[in-house]
Amino acid sequence: MASALKNIIVVGGSYVGKSTAQELAKVVPNTHRVLLIEPHSHFHHLFAFPRFAILPGHEHKAFIPYTHLFNTATNHSVIQARVLSVQPNYVNIDRDWQGSPKIPFEYLVVATGTRLSEPAGMKDNDKISSVAYLQKHQADIKNSKSILIAGGGAVGVQMATDLKELYPEKEITVVQSRPKLMPQYHVGLHELIMKRFDELGIKFVTGSRVKVPQSGFPSTTPFEVQLTDGTTLPSKYDFVILATGQTPNTDLLSDLPSSSPEGLLSQSNGFIRIRPTMQFADEKYPHLYAVGDIADTGLRKAARPGATQAATVVKNIMAMIEGKKPVEEYPRSPAGIHLTLGLKYNVVFRNPDEAAGQTEPTVIKRDDGQADMGVEGWWERLGVPVTERQQYHL
Ligand SMILES: Cc1cc2nc3c(=O)[nH]c(=O)nc-3n(C[C@H](O)[C@H](O)[C@H](O)COP(=O)(O)OP(=O)(O)OC[C@H]3O[C@@H](n4cnc5c(N)ncnc54)[C@H](O)[C@@H]3O)c2cc1C
Repeated sequence: MASALKNIIVVGGSYVGKSTAQELAKVVPNTHRVLLIEPHSHFHHLFAFPRFAILPGHEHKAFIPYTHLFNTATNHSVIQARVLSVQPNYVNIDRDWQGSPKIPFEYLVVATGTRLSEPAGMKDNDKISSVAYLQKHQADIKNSKSILIAGGGAVGVQMATDLKELYPEKEITVVQSRPKLMPQYHVGLHELIMKRFDELGIKFVTGSRVKVPQSGFPSTTPFEVQLTDGTTLPSKYDFVILATGQTPNTDLLSDLPSSSPEGLLSQSNGFIRIRPTMQFADEKYPHLYAVGDIADTGLRKAARPGATQAATVVKNIMAMIEGKKPVEEYPRSPAGIHLTLGLKYNVVFRNPDEAAGQTEPTVIKRDDGQADMGVEGWWERLGVPVTERQQYHL
């Protein structure tokens, strides 16, 4: 039987979708319910995947049950499913929920983020397979003498420094096509990372990309690795980690017609075009919002600004429920990152706030890193405080 409640659907239950759904659930009137739709059985704490793909013993902690996201006495729900398509007033999911694969909505928030290649993102939706994958990755690393990392973004940098600290005898090479590591940031970050690479003895190759053979890298090791400029790297490798690129998850919008000649997605980068209110940049769909990495905000993709964007969306949806115009605009702050550069050494780096007249970045160096990256705090944020270690296996 169809529910009399009006649905506010949030698609995607990672950092930003989760925050949006939790914040909405705190404020929406009891005429409405929040439905969070996510194919993963558990919340994926992906900040820790690069570390847990190397360091054994913590991998199960990166998958946190959704069971306590909402107070069970309320009508809000987490639905384990994938949204196949968005229509103007309903979504189609890949299974039945309450007897139907169609779920109607009054408001929809798309928080589908991006797809990352393993080990930065998981291929499977369930915890057991993902934990097994990370354990196999740890074993492959342990059995390799020489490891190549393709990509000099956060995943590549964090994995290289963890690897070399944990296994100083292994040869670690990072290949980055652009001249600088983490090029979205002030050059000071590249310089700081290069210093760390030199201290640890990590090799850095720049100016070309790793050529991935069509059939994958050979299973007989060690093997040679070619670059797209036609050169072959001087060393031979046993294992390659692909830490490259992110693809926006927008398939679910393929059937939704746009009334704007520019379309729903940015033609330059494929992310969802939005207004400053985070509504789709299409007058036909004032009730559709995009938030987090999937939204074409022009800002650096990160979970932290995503949480403030979630607050913008919540205010605007509440205004619309109350019959008012949504006017809240998402904040714009300079890009920042909390980056590990080894098991203990980590750095908080923020680009200069040019609007405030700053010319230098903010750099906070710390030596307080924990092996499991303080994952416990994330369990609390999902409503599951950990009192016994056994709970990490939930
Ligand atoms: C190694 C690493 C470390 C990082 N560290 C930091 C950090 O310290 N601080 C920081 O602020 N940021 C950090 N980031 C960036 C941060 O992880 C991203 O900005 C963040 O994950 C974006 O969150 P999101 O919710 O927008 O999307 P995503 O995390 O990309 O999640 C999208 C979700 O949508 C779901 N989904 C996709 N398609 C569908 C569909 N059709 N139906 C239903 N669900 C769907 C996916 O399963 C997924 O759960 C880090 C990233 C990496 C890789």
